[in-house]
Amino acid sequence: MEIEINLAPEEFKRTSELKFLPFGKIFTPHMFIMKYDEDKGWHSPKICPFSNIELHPAAIVLHYAQTVFEGLKAYWGVDGKIRLFRVWDHINRLNCSAERMCIPTLEPKLVFEAIKTLVLIDKNWIPREKGSALYIRPFIFATEGTLGLKVSREYLFVIIASPVGAYYKEGFNPIKIYVTEQYIRACPGGTGEVKTGGNYAASLKAQEIAQNKGYTQVLWLDAIERRYVEEVGSMNIFFYFENELTTPMLSGSILPGITRDSVLKLASVLGFSVTERKIAIEEVIEGIEKGTLKECFGTGTAAVITPVGKIFYRNKDYTINRGETGEVTKLFFERITGIQYGETEDLFNWTTLLE
Ligand SMILES: *Cc1c(COP(=O)(O)O)cnc(C)c1O
Repeated sequence: MEIEINLAPEEFKRTSELKFLPFGKIFTPHMFIMKYDEDKGWHSPKICPFSNIELHPAAIVLHYAQTVFEGLKAYWGVDGKIRLFRVWDHINRLNCSAERMCIPTLEPKLVFEAIKTLVLIDKNWIPREKGSALYIRPFIFATEGTLGLKVSREYLFVIIASPVGAYYKEGFNPIKIYVTEQYIRACPGGTGEVKTGGNYAASLKAQEIAQNKGYTQVLWLDAIERRYVEEVGSMNIFFYFENELTTPMLSGSILPGITRDSVLKLASVLGFSVTERKIAIEEVIEGIEKGTLKECFGTGTAAVITPVGKIFYRNKDYTINRGETGEVTKLFFERITGIQYGETEDLFNWTTLLE
């Protein structure tokens, strides 16, 4: 399928300085859009000026949340080349999410072409400062207008892009996280392992409570026993115990993060002893009290690696590594961003050059 291109007028294409970049608030001048209906399948892919989308008020997505998304980044390398990080893994996960939500899957090559074409058209909007990037958000949603609860027969696939600075306002400083035993994010048999809107809507209440108490993110426990650590906010979580780097094993209710996988693969070649297993919150607290838990960090595309300095659990704050960013946390941050910006060898072929 040929992507039709309809460029925005010159005045929309001018970049501002791209200096102060709040996450996900500024968008590039173009977007990609493609339709699906039962007769034609996916058809009419095009890139057009960024604009609002008109929807039927009964569009299924607005009522029943049949939708999926992805988040990946394009970087200006130190060599002046543009790189995408693990783009094929993101495309593959988008299709896995679509499959779970009864959304027709996409031809991976077409999705890649769409991302590549959009990024190159808007390449002046990729910020150049280290730590910043172009965040790319592909998403699919159900557009059929009906109040009957059923699988939609019509969809839109859209890709938008947003220049972003370093994710956390505080910079690469440890965050404080809040363990909730009252709310859960996902349960076995549910949709926790796919990127679909409803998961995030369901997480807002606990996130709001945590933020009102001065914490940055929620640490989620498993739905059944409220005991095993699952994820933190929209990141996976790692614990560095004496001689063991560990992360919760994928249980079906944990999002299989691509950054998580990058840390696991790098850790093996760096000689860490790495495990994926069940991690009880008591074990974490005990590790902090005894001093055997050395470091803790979150992983995700938006922030890459986020050090965790404090955990609130049952009315008490527990401080990890004196609330400072640890060496292992820094090591993974340096290694992964080094690959993303083309500074260090890409052992696993994770990056795709665009030009
Ligand atoms: C996207 C996401 C992650 C991180 O995945 P990456 O592929 O590393 O960006 C972790 N948890 C949740 C809930 C997510 O939505």
